Amino acid sequence: MTGFLQAGRPPLILASESKARARLLQAAGLAFIAEPPGLDEAAMRQAVSGTGALSPQDVAEVLARAKAEAVSELARDAFVIGAETATPGYLPGPVTPGTWRLLLGPYTVHPDGLTCRVEVTLTAETASPTERSAAAPAPRRARGRGRAWYRGDPHTHTVHSDGRWEPAELVAAAAEAGLDFFVSTEHNTNSAHAVWGRHAREDLLIIDGEEVTTRNGHLVAAGLPSGTWLDWRHRAADGSFRGGVLDRLRADGALAIAAHPHAPCLGCQWKHGLDGLDAIEVWNGPWTVDDEVSLQQWNSVLSDPSGWLPAVGSSDTHGPESPVGLAQTVVLADDLSVSAVLAGMRAGRSYIAESSSVALDFQATADGRAAGIGETLDVALDREVTVELHVQGVTEGYVRLVTDQGWMAVFPLPQDGEPVRWTTTPARASYVRAEVRHAEGGPMPLLEPMAAFTNPIFLGRPVPLRSTRRAGHGTHAR
Ligand SMILES: [Zn+2]
Ligand SMILES: [Zn+2]
Repeated sequence: MTGFLQAGRPPLILASESKARARLLQAAGLAFIAEPPGLDEAAMRQAVSGTGALSPQDVAEVLARAKAEAVSELARDAFVIGAETATPGYLPGPVTPGTWRLLLGPYTVHPDGLTCRVEVTLTAETASPTERSAAAPAPRRARGRGRAWYRGDPHTHTVHSDGRWEPAELVAAAAEAGLDFFVSTEHNTNSAHAVWGRHAREDLLIIDGEEVTTRNGHLVAAGLPSGTWLDWRHRAADGSFRGGVLDRLRADGALAIAAHPHAPCLGCQWKHGLDGLDAIEVWNGPWTVDDEVSLQQWNSVLSDPSGWLPAVGSSDTHGPESPVGLAQTVVLADDLSVSAVLAGMRAGRSYIAESSSVALDFQATADGRAAGIGETLDVALDREVTVELHVQGVTEGYVRLVTDQGWMAVFPLPQDGEPVRWTTTPARASYVRAEVRHAEGGPMPLLEPMAAFTNPIFLGRPVPLRSTRRAGHGTHAR
């Protein structure tokens, strides 16, 4: 370490936005620069180029590297960056002279501080041609069935961040689980985008994304152009999240999904508000109390006439112990392509299920017209509306129909394959959605194991998607 910092050698600079950490690093005799959270690429570029040590290409290299270097979290204690290959999660590239930044991102720093020990080894090696691997992005389309319901897992991890799946293993597990697509959402890195083309299958669509782990909640960005990277260093109090993340991914046509908004882990609770989001991840992994809380929060958004948000469900799998597809989002899309699947999810034409053996068919009809999930049955307020739900793949349980007025109807699951039928009017129910639970609890049902639930069908008046509202002007937009 000391040798590395000798005059004439490239300096290693440790960046920190925590005073405590900076003090510790200083005490350890390590140089550092303080970096405000949410520092954007232009500012970083300026800061790096201000040293005069690097050419513009070098700056680009350092930026790419600096981004990738941040993903270790607690998952790694060592990584390698080479000209042609790198530890998954990091971006390969030539090791150029200049300022290097090692970003340390502990979730918390104890008041007594923490000990950091950094060893850097530089070796001069030429990669053999067999190691060279060009970026292989996944195809943007897979073999579909035209307009149909497609099953996918919008939130997954591999060894490219803190997961244990190798990319090939995740692909095999997704196919085994009966999925048509999944979204690759590594924490704070885009390095996996470059490998999916080598693993994609004809009938399995892989969508590039990122899980942006801000200080106040995790965002699943789904459908990023291959190689796109979003900075995660945002706090709600900074006000930098919208410009730094939401506006960028909106421009890229990707979806913004608040991940596990009430998960009981440090920094995981969603505090960036709901405006500008495309969906809420209501169901994350096995059904637990925080999913129940997310469901109630989401439910309250559905009664807001100025804009609603679709729900999605995913596994957030990190390895074989968390099954891929538990939960999964089943989307009505025009085809099995990135744009069609994203459009279906954005519109809320979807339901969430615990596995590929569960299938729902949910419709509302009146006056010879029909509306499905995410749609509006645009009929007069006093018209009688028939709501029908077919459930496949759940042997025992019950169906709960929920409207803006609450839990309005409960039915035992029909055993003969018959649908559940219920009648209402748009005046009595501004929307209706369905839950299929494995067991019925009591008068205040909570934590009954979920088998599947739908996004709403609106009755009477259409309600706009919240994602179409403009920031700051949304309260009464229609
Ligand atoms: Zn997360
Ligand atoms: Zn995750």
